[in-house]
Amino acid sequence: MGLTDIQDRIAKAEKDADRAPGSVQLIAVSKVQPNDRVEAVLDLGHRIYGENKVQEAAGKWPDFRARYDRLSVHLIGPLQSNKTRQAMGLFDAIHSVDRPKIAKAIARIAQEEGHCPELFIQVNTGEEDQKAGVLPADTDAFVAECRDLDLPVRGLMCIPPVDETPSLHFALLAKLAARNGLDGLSMGMSADFEEAIALGATHIRVGSAIFGERDYG
Ligand SMILES: *Cc1c(COP(=O)(O)O)cnc(C)c1O
Repeated sequence: MGLTDIQDRIAKAEKDADRAPGSVQLIAVSKVQPNDRVEAVLDLGHRIYGENKVQEAAGKWPDFRARYDRLSVHLIGPLQSNKTRQAMGLFDAIHSVDRPKIAKAIARIAQEEGHCPELFIQVNTGEEDQKAGVLPADTDAFVAECRDLDLPVRGLMCIPPVDETPSLHFALLAKLAARNGLDGLSMGMSADFEEAIALGATHIRVGSAIFGERDYG
């Protein structure tokens, strides 16, 4: 547990998979964590963080940005279209682009503001009703639609169903990305990031294994 332990495990997983050292970006998922835990990781020099709610991120990251340089903050949770402009101002990357309405809103605001975060398209690999994401069968068409809008699509993202073998979902996401000429793969969390790295993850999202359990109480 802890940042340096996770960094060591990432390095080993990269090596085991014959991947270049540093080819995997660690997104430290700081949602719900108390600020002192986040500051401890900031003070260790880590600069890439993930949040799943726009409001929560708005309450802490502007302050941290004023105190720490070179921060990269990623939105890994759902995006409502009425929060798109706010999200584009707060985040360096958005991992939850999953429908034409959002893609069009991002494209319009990017035109107006002259800048756009790096984007990942979320794929609902488990085809779960309650989960966000474009269906696997609709992914090629949606990637093409985003490209037509000139959006900077970095890759694909998935959150496997809790009760299924994650590797099957990581492999599916990798296949969908490869066939669309995308090399960014946002996949893998505390419990399964090594498997994700073996299957090509470029961005892993790790929360509790770095910061400890989240206290929702
Ligand atoms: C919370 C969250 C994570 C991190 O989960 P851990 O199990 O704490 O590593 C990763 N991805 C998404 C989308 C999340 O919401």
